[in-house]
Amino acid sequence: MSDERREDGGTPATSQGSAGTPAGGPTGAPGGSPAVRPSDQDGPTGPPGRSPGLRLGSPFGIPIFVAPSSIFLALLLAYVFGPVAERELPGLGGAAFLVGIAFAVLLYGSVLLHELAHSVVARSFGIPVRRIVLQLLGGVSELEREPETAGRELLVAVAGPGLSLVLAAFALGLGQVLPDDSLVRWLVLGIGSANLLVGIFNLLPGLPLDGGRVLRAVAWAITGKPLLSTLIAAWAGRAVAVFVAALPFVLAGAAGTDPSVVNVVWCALIAMFIWFGATATIQHVRLREKLPSLDVRRLTRRAIPVAADLPLAEALRRAYVAGARGLVVVDALGKPTGLVDEAAASATPEHRRPWVSVATVARSLQPGMTLSADLGGEELVKAIQATPSREYLVVEPTGEIVGVLSTADVERAFANA
Ligand SMILES: [Zn+2]
Repeated sequence: MSDERREDGGTPATSQGSAGTPAGGPTGAPGGSPAVRPSDQDGPTGPPGRSPGLRLGSPFGIPIFVAPSSIFLALLLAYVFGPVAERELPGLGGAAFLVGIAFAVLLYGSVLLHELAHSVVARSFGIPVRRIVLQLLGGVSELEREPETAGRELLVAVAGPGLSLVLAAFALGLGQVLPDDSLVRWLVLGIGSANLLVGIFNLLPGLPLDGGRVLRAVAWAITGKPLLSTLIAAWAGRAVAVFVAALPFVLAGAAGTDPSVVNVVWCALIAMFIWFGATATIQHVRLREKLPSLDVRRLTRRAIPVAADLPLAEALRRAYVAGARGLVVVDALGKPTGLVDEAAASATPEHRRPWVSVATVARSLQPGMTLSADLGGEELVKAIQATPSREYLVVEPTGEIVGVLSTADVERAFANA
């Protein structure tokens, strides 16, 4: 299963006071598998199971959530921008804070549109969108899976920043024709510059930003290898993180001033967000690379067929003699109906085993608990995810019983791969 999260980084605050903003862009962190779950993946957002916050509505049928942390940031922005508005437009007085709030709301609205652009394009390719979450350092569009081709990946990735840049051009253009010194003009120009920043920032070429997705799509188109491309884009993300952290010093150096503490802290926060996102992706790719080495046939324990009413002691004796470690319960026609639960069998005291039938320590075979011996790597993990169980019956494509696959063995093989 590929659980795709597109995360968008915050934009660095500039000394002009175009806000440090939430922005949009994707992370290529394809999600883990339950049995063999890479533990990272959730980065700054938290596990998908947890409620992501306040539900705003469902435009285009896509649920929108606002994380509580982003409400905190909105208030902080209002607090910071109120005085700026007061300075630019004297006479606002107490309304300055309201202007700050208006600015924050417009900003989050822009980020939401950015995310919607990603999501709507993804959906047009038939990729279901779980939800959009607006959080402290940006928005996340949670897609159920990754785009199938490099071209689609590219289009989903550029949709967000593309929309931000269009909004920026529109707002900055509109600002030119609005009356000077008006509050609306000030807000429109502010939102225009913020969208410009969001658009440009998210195009920085490294995961987890949109630009990283673009880089990944290009690398994918050239190499034909999606995993390798993810790795390239994730390493580029680490480079971008270093660049963002250094940015306030470089800009201040160029201007011949000292970097402001606010900018240094803000850029350091964003750099950390990018660094951790990129690192999680690198670790995830490493795990995925191990998958092909998982081979069902090699991991399957040899099993012998036994009748349901056979005493457990006799069944275990036969297995021992045959050098098998699993017991498959079969009906009179030899058709598998259940698997003896190894834990339940070994939990049965030795003196009881002659008096207990295998049926009492077996679980019946549910659909999905039968796997083909030809499965491997990712297909195996998908099959295990689809029907979680401790044990599976493994059969040849012809239907012949190969043995029993224990989830614990798969996990061990994965850990040692
Ligand atoms: Zn984006």
